[in-house]
Amino acid sequence: MRLKITNGTLITPYRYLKNGTLVIEDGKIVGVHQGNVEVPDAEVIDANGHYIAPGFIDLHIHGGGGHDFMDGSVEAFLGIAETHAQYGTTAMVPTTLTSEKEDLLETLDLYEKANARNTKGAQFLGMHLEGPYFALSQRGAQDPRYIRNPDPKEYEEVLAYSSSITRWSAAPELPGAIEFGKRLRQKGILAAVAHTDAIYEEVLEAYENGYTLATHLYSAMSGVTRKNAFRYAGTIESAFLLDMDVEIIADGVHLPAPLLKLIYKIKGPDHIALITDAMRAAGMPEGESTLGSLKNGLKVIVEDGVAKLPDRTSFAGSVSTADRLVRNMVQMADVSLLDSVRMMTATPARIMGVDNKKGTLVAGKDADIVIFDEDIRIQTTIVQGRIIYEKQYQKI
Ligand SMILES: [Zn+2]
Repeated sequence: MRLKITNGTLITPYRYLKNGTLVIEDGKIVGVHQGNVEVPDAEVIDANGHYIAPGFIDLHIHGGGGHDFMDGSVEAFLGIAETHAQYGTTAMVPTTLTSEKEDLLETLDLYEKANARNTKGAQFLGMHLEGPYFALSQRGAQDPRYIRNPDPKEYEEVLAYSSSITRWSAAPELPGAIEFGKRLRQKGILAAVAHTDAIYEEVLEAYENGYTLATHLYSAMSGVTRKNAFRYAGTIESAFLLDMDVEIIADGVHLPAPLLKLIYKIKGPDHIALITDAMRAAGMPEGESTLGSLKNGLKVIVEDGVAKLPDRTSFAGSVSTADRLVRNMVQMADVSLLDSVRMMTATPARIMGVDNKKGTLVAGKDADIVIFDEDIRIQTTIVQGRIIYEKQYQKI
């Protein structure tokens, strides 16, 4: 099974390859070439002069297309994967919200079932548990009823229950959070600091014990604080100072242009992952929606291109899609397309530990490809050599 994508600008890790050709065999990239090359018996996709880039990788996502991963159904998982594939996402890390343990375990079960049936959407890269070990004061839109300190009895049960957990976010200053981070690291699970009031000394200890990523930088985390006369660096400053990775909700609403530029200036494209953090209303019309499961979720309102709590005191997740993140970095933050794509592909792949298979257009990697125009509107999405979405293309 051979596929040839030709007549487009390839975005390789280090350059734009104009009039490039990508050759794919059995779901893998086997050749990256300048000009058109003969490939016997290949199906041919004409990229019509558009960009041909690695597929987008979303490390933090809750929903889309009217579904949430906590809805309690396989259909929700598949619906989200298919919705976001239309916007260029080829791999994602389904993310939970704080919830009852029973709902969490059910979601982990459903992940397994959905993963086995997911042939038409973005691939799943394991589950991200967002909570429940958070600082109550930084809960944001997380349901306060379920927020608590790390409890080894509880998390050991969850870890033993499912081997599909690849990422877990927690507040590192909580009692037991350092032990928890070490345990995650030991299991090969990405540990991230999130919804936290930690000061520098606490983030440093967390970093030394396995926490390597800051979850949605600036959202639900401490900055500089003052106790009496003395100032303390918060989690944000710590993420800048330490060799940590950061993920940012670049929907253009959660972070204004100057902050996007600041983060890019300090951390650079190799340490920033763009995330949607999208809730169920992504890819849907604005209006009322529900954050979290339909059963236990919070009523929210979607307006101005973002979800808000009904009293409008806090955002309640984004409704962004991956194409919008890349577009914002280019158009709002004046970042090059090459670096913007890198933050949506190679860098998240490396952070998630799948860079041996995904994230760049390099021979040997999975043929996860997205074709988009000058305005980063998605034309075609391909997962492991299979076309799962196409807006328009011509078969020759
Ligand atoms: Zn989230």
